[in-house]
Amino acid sequence: MRNIEDETLDPEDWETSRAFAHRMVDEAIDHLAQIRARPVWQPMPGEVRAGFKTGLPADPTSLDQVYNEYRDTVRAFAMGNIHPRFWGWYMGSSNFTGALGDFLAAVEGSNLGGGNTGAAQVEQQVVDWLKEIAGFPESASGTLTSGGSMANLVAHTVIRNLAAGYDVRREGIAALKTPLRFYASDQVHSCHQKALETLGLGARALLEVPSDDRQRMRLDLLEAAIATDRAKGLQPACVIGTAGTTNTGATDDLSAIADLCEREGLWFHVDGCIGGVLRLAPEHAHLVAGMERAGSVAIDPHKWLHAPFEAGAVLIKDPEAHFATFEMHGPYLQLQERGLIAGKFLADYGLELSRGFRALKIWMALKEQGARKFGRLIAQNIAQAQHMAAQVEAHPLLELVAPVELNIVCFRHVASDEDAARALNTEIMLRLQERGLAVPSDTTVQGRHGLRCAINNHRTTFADIDAFLGDVLRIAEEILADPTA
Ligand SMILES: *Cc1c(COP(=O)(O)O)cnc(C)c1O
Repeated sequence: MRNIEDETLDPEDWETSRAFAHRMVDEAIDHLAQIRARPVWQPMPGEVRAGFKTGLPADPTSLDQVYNEYRDTVRAFAMGNIHPRFWGWYMGSSNFTGALGDFLAAVEGSNLGGGNTGAAQVEQQVVDWLKEIAGFPESASGTLTSGGSMANLVAHTVIRNLAAGYDVRREGIAALKTPLRFYASDQVHSCHQKALETLGLGARALLEVPSDDRQRMRLDLLEAAIATDRAKGLQPACVIGTAGTTNTGATDDLSAIADLCEREGLWFHVDGCIGGVLRLAPEHAHLVAGMERAGSVAIDPHKWLHAPFEAGAVLIKDPEAHFATFEMHGPYLQLQERGLIAGKFLADYGLELSRGFRALKIWMALKEQGARKFGRLIAQNIAQAQHMAAQVEAHPLLELVAPVELNIVCFRHVASDEDAARALNTEIMLRLQERGLAVPSDTTVQGRHGLRCAINNHRTTFADIDAFLGDVLRIAEEILADPTA
């Protein structure tokens, strides 16, 4: 019996909650099972948007009503990245086991800052599995993060502190005598610049080396830039190789960069947010040969492992430097040899103290499906991209704007000149999105604008690709027939 003075967030009656939760799960499963029948995305009407302007709810609403509101005004206007014809930007398409994992993690409620818990074991096991996937030794350290941006930031913090050669944590970067330099291709993801800005090194610390006609870093220019910087009194610190660029899916020559870093005494970091899991697909593993020689790698399980957002990871081959960069314990959080706080303290390997149980969704899906299945899904997406590229090349009105190296296809409907092509293809993209037919995004590669399909989606079929190209041609015809419509 509950004392009426005592309040809690638990329901009055668990049986009602049980029945209600079952209904939510049933409807969630219907939502997934019927995904193909729905538009990929739909714009939110003004009156629905206005519904989000109500103030802080002081009084209760029944969960039934709250859930209905979620279903009708939130989920109905979801991004759509779980739909088989969503290929915009670079997403993952989630998975139901992962969603159940997130639910179970939230019910358990453990804080992964640290602690002698099953959850901490799961996170460390997932990090160990990622080492196997990336070809990193067991002795490497690692941590799960919110995503790739945070994973790269964690790595760059460790690299900065090592390269500085003094106690940066104590003295700050004001004590830095020679400016540090990080090198990457001009195709590098923008999060690296953000990380170096955040670390106080400034955007100038990132030198973007021109890429070749396949969007891979020009290593002759990299070598020359390093020599020039040394002559100028700057301190080369790190080369960032990208395993699968976001724009076109290009992969730098990681083995050659590893050689160069060894010769020059530089840290080698790999941004493997896309391609860090490629070794799961044996026929494509050669693309990332040399990744295993890097000092650190960022991997994004919420991309090609389809973990529900958020899940990133970073692996570092110097566990002492990793620990020395982030270890921090207030008087209220002292470690013990025994008891709940014993064992490795996970927050000593990153910026966040309180951390969610992100590992469970990855752990459950990998166990249930097996790593080989994820490898086959990666190979399937690459084959679908090649199929799309072949169709594009075979059609007189379509053309590729970048070589297809992985699972990203950049192409366009031809037009009289560059401006006309940009206008036409942008309109095609927007109509596809607004009609809920498909979600490509767009990009510009070496001055040529086009549609961009990043096929990172375990629900996509070859038939989806064919139907999509048919839609592109049909819409183009419609626009060209009546540009004002
Ligand atoms: C997506 C991506 C990132 C950023 O990762 P988030 O998870 O979006 O923070 C970094 N690098 C590359 C190559 C990426 O594709």
